[in-house]
Amino acid sequence: MDVLSLENWQIFPEGRPVLVAGPCSAESEAQVMRTAAELKKCGVGVFRAGIWKPRTHPGTFEGVGTPGLAWLRKAGRELGLKVCTEVACREHVEACLEYGIDMVWTGARTTSSPFMVQEIADALSGSGIPVLVKNPVSPDIELWTGAIERFVRAGIRKLGIVHRGFSASEKTRYRNSPEWRIVIEMRSRFPELPFLCDPSHIAGDRKYVAEIAQRALDLGLDGLMIESHCEPSCALSDAAQQLAPDELAALIGRLVVREADSDSSDYRTAIDSLRARIDAIDGEILAALAARMEVSRQIGECKKKSNIAILQTSRWDAVLEKVISEGREYGLPEHFVSVVFNAIHDASVQAQNDILSGSL
Ligand code: PEP
Ligand code: MN
Repeated sequence: MDVLSLENWQIFPEGRPVLVAGPCSAESEAQVMRTAAELKKCGVGVFRAGIWKPRTHPGTFEGVGTPGLAWLRKAGRELGLKVCTEVACREHVEACLEYGIDMVWTGARTTSSPFMVQEIADALSGSGIPVLVKNPVSPDIELWTGAIERFVRAGIRKLGIVHRGFSASEKTRYRNSPEWRIVIEMRSRFPELPFLCDPSHIAGDRKYVAEIAQRALDLGLDGLMIESHCEPSCALSDAAQQLAPDELAALIGRLVVREADSDSSDYRTAIDSLRARIDAIDGEILAALAARMEVSRQIGECKKKSNIAILQTSRWDAVLEKVISEGREYGLPEHFVSVVFNAIHDASVQAQNDILSGSL
């Protein structure tokens, strides 16, 4: 994949994690200049502010539009900051290029629309400015992947990924569910792309931002995009999740940055031996699963001979209850045991189905 590493973007100061910070929305020139100046003092090098806001409900603050780009440009020039904003269509891209905006991102709602992503990719093509692709609203890894592919095909070489959480039907304590498994899968699909986390939109509440930011760094992500406003309680959008610049500085100071790897011989010896044990245990798990599956097939044959239906729910409920309770004695979380055994059960039912329908 023909993309440039973060060091070659000429956007971020040296060092990891990289940081993008600024208000959810640009609201006035004074708010932009004051927030940017305070963030600059905290060591922030890349300033964000939404100019066009895709709001869920009409009649709420939808951004100041193009005039806000002049405030961003002014903040960038006067304070020596790089500036970035969200784009959702060709006109937004063209306006950003005209005002010399240094970087853009696509928001979750826009990434969800292949037509809009294609339009933005075409408009950015050849401009040389970096684009960050936030995840789509739904936990659809193919839709997220497709958006990345569209930018790659348009020849965008400064391309990054941002995780901002997914909409979930079940209400959790976070505004958007983090789904770290999808993040890990995306990382392995695109190992050469810088990967940031936006803990503000995952959290929805400033009290959760730090724990999510730390989690992202623990997973080895490259940086953070965090919302910060000079007066969060007065913010016109996302007031509950924005941090005052001094709160942001304190949060950054407390984050523990872990090394991606280490050459220390103590660490290598310890980790190599633990990994060898994990590999051996994984082998045992697979052998046990294969043995269990074989018994399950024999049960299928037995049911077939006696013309018995595959699914006996009461039997399965009893098995599940037993393994969950035994698992608890081993200190295994109920949810984990339940997910694993339901997956095993699904595969067994499938195998027995194949036997009954004669396809094996
Ligand atoms: C934002 O960054 O302010 C924003 C609207 O982001 P998202 O698309 O992640 O909701
Ligand atoms: Mn926001």
